[in-house]
Amino acid sequence: MTDRGARRWARGHPWIYRTDVSREPRPPTAGIVAVVNVRDRFLGHALYSPRSEIRLRLLTNSRDAPDQMWWTARLREALARRDGIDATACRIVHAEGDGLPSLIVDRYGTVVVAQLLSAGLEAVRGDVLDAIRDVLAPSGLLLRHDARVREHEGLPQGVELAFGNVPEAVDVTEHGVHYRAAPWTGQKTGAFLDQRENRRLAGSRARGRVLDLFTYQGAFALHLARGAERVVAVDQSGDALRRGREHAALNRLSNVEWIEANAFDYLRSLERGHERFDVIVLDPPAFAKTKDRVPRALAGYKEINLRAMKLLSPGGILLTFSCSFHVGRDRFLAMASDAAGDARRQLVLEQVLGQAGDHPEALTIPETSYLKGLLLRAMD
Ligand code: SAH
Repeated sequence: MTDRGARRWARGHPWIYRTDVSREPRPPTAGIVAVVNVRDRFLGHALYSPRSEIRLRLLTNSRDAPDQMWWTARLREALARRDGIDATACRIVHAEGDGLPSLIVDRYGTVVVAQLLSAGLEAVRGDVLDAIRDVLAPSGLLLRHDARVREHEGLPQGVELAFGNVPEAVDVTEHGVHYRAAPWTGQKTGAFLDQRENRRLAGSRARGRVLDLFTYQGAFALHLARGAERVVAVDQSGDALRRGREHAALNRLSNVEWIEANAFDYLRSLERGHERFDVIVLDPPAFAKTKDRVPRALAGYKEINLRAMKLLSPGGILLTFSCSFHVGRDRFLAMASDAAGDARRQLVLEQVLGQAGDHPEALTIPETSYLKGLLLRAMD
């Protein structure tokens, strides 16, 4: 590979793009390859994807090619880093953030849901799945290979049971709240694990009237309902709300009102009704899926944040999030400042929030970090 590519590796980013590969393997077969620089010096072993723009993903600088024992050892290390997590569902491998590019491994109770997201990784699937079996000994392993990124790799889409049994719903306990993850059909691998610590934080600040927008299956709403008088939980998906209602019953909580609506419209109607809330959560889907969508996304974030700020009661709290990778922390904060100015509200920034610790962000790999949030308190 080129010197530019080699510099990228040296500086801690494992991806090498097509344009930095000076000589492709012959034949160009997906899998683990030894990589050399233009002077034939050995650089490391990487996953090779012959059809992807991301051609190489560095696994190790060692001269020994990774085998099943290597995957087992890396998985054991990743598991050890999750010691002390107080939830029965958590991410065990966060791909590049755990030094295992394009591999996601999430555990839901005794069941594991994994994603092999590159052609190079798919080619060594036997070793990877054996390692998961050895280290986590799940009662069932499901592959959520319906992730869109697999298309860039020329890989087929589908959900596949690798071994054992994986039920439609798995009971999860998260900091005392119970919900049911849906490994086969739910978002991502069955639930949004990345918000776990922020949901706990929200719960610790619950009081009075609460609004949870983009509630999905009510995860924030449930944490909040335990300490609030009343929670209004809003989502446009009736299916998600139905599960939210079941979750409320599971937790014996009867103070949540489930509303099927477009969050933008609903905020407008609350504003017209001069409603007030003591705590508001905004956890929308990624508005900017691509870079060119950023300006429109920022306009969307600003609209919902501005309206939510207006609805805060004096001393009220706003927890606002973005999971758009393309909207970084700085821009998100600038958007919030702008919205507060327009809303004519004085808000203090109590905390900058991120994804849960089992979704580690590698400093030299920006792509490992996508979720950002702000805890804001109204001063007036
Ligand atoms: N807070 C949730 C995750 C939210 S995911 C948790 O912690 O688990 C985003 C949710 O927003 C999805 O459930 C989706 O149905 C919903 N959604 C997307 N666009 C919407 C809109 N315009 N109005 C209301 N809900 C919307």
